[in-house]
Amino acid sequence: MLKLLTPCLVVNTIYDINLALLKQRGIRGIIFDLDNTIVAWNSPELGPDMRAWLQQLSGHELKVCLLSNNGNKRVKAIADQCGAPFVARALKPARTGFRQAVHTLGLTPAEVAVVGDQLFTDMLGGNRLGLFTIWVQPLASQEFIGTKITRQFEKLAIRLLRASGRL
Ligand SMILES: [Mg+2]
Repeated sequence: MLKLLTPCLVVNTIYDINLALLKQRGIRGIIFDLDNTIVAWNSPELGPDMRAWLQQLSGHELKVCLLSNNGNKRVKAIADQCGAPFVARALKPARTGFRQAVHTLGLTPAEVAVVGDQLFTDMLGGNRLGLFTIWVQPLASQEFIGTKITRQFEKLAIRLLRASGRL
């Protein structure tokens, strides 16, 4: 279980992701979580810096897909702001949504990275499918009540991961 929660890479912010390194590893597409990864929780729009950063990825020959447990309407609104395809109501950490996103990108799991702020949804689901998992610190402290509960388990998992030298 601990192994499946362990991110392949840990960064403070999305802007710290080394794109050249990803490409060296054969990554050709990135799946992004929505809430507290590219937008603050419940926010209806991408900030200008985040939008610009997401849009420049195509210049690096990296395809983008958004993957969220949130509803279709909100996810689409944000996906449209950066011109990316999306999968909503993903039921992460279930593999189905991740598979759909990989399929949307037209790539194989080995060619795809996933960026997210939660160990129990984004990292667990991504690792289960063999994606290159990248864990970012949440953008804001405000969260969905369900996430606040999961965070308590996440804190425990982080302690265990650190104690076992995985983080
Ligand atoms: Mg999130």
